[in-house]
Amino acid sequence: MSRANCIEGLRNKIFMAQNDCIFCKIIVKELSSKIIIENNDVIVIQDIVPKAPVHYLIIPKKHIADVMALQEIDAQLVGKLLLMAKELGAKLTGSQAFRLIVNNGSDVGQSVFHLHFHFLSGKKMLDF
Ligand code: 5GP
Ligand code: ZN
Repeated sequence: MSRANCIEGLRNKIFMAQNDCIFCKIIVKELSSKIIIENNDVIVIQDIVPKAPVHYLIIPKKHIADVMALQEIDAQLVGKLLLMAKELGAKLTGSQAFRLIVNNGSDVGQSVFHLHFHFLSGKKMLDF
């Protein structure tokens, strides 16, 4: 691990110890959720209020508030979020169509300020 990544990891741990973020609590298993899959960097959970037959949340384990809070050092992590979407897409039964949504800011519906992709599938969504 590089020095920069190590410092980022420590910053994240300090943030998680201090903040009240729902997704950070889910990540450290302080709050329960239906976990679909996880690895060192990313966790995927079932959305508690699903808006489609398949509604997952793809969440980086690092606390990043939103797209605007992303930094250059997060580039690889963002790639991992998209590759997780690919992995989930490959596991879909029936149609492999899915939609990814990222809300940035409360005016467009962001309610949890920890970056996440909504992964939606299992019904026709031709309304966009
Ligand atoms: P946003 O509105 O920020 O784009 O998306 C947040 C999503 O998180 C919503 O779809 C909401 O249903 C989901 N959510 C909020 N709290 C919880 C929780 O405690 N557990 C799970 N699994 N999902 C949650
Ligand atoms: Zn968080």
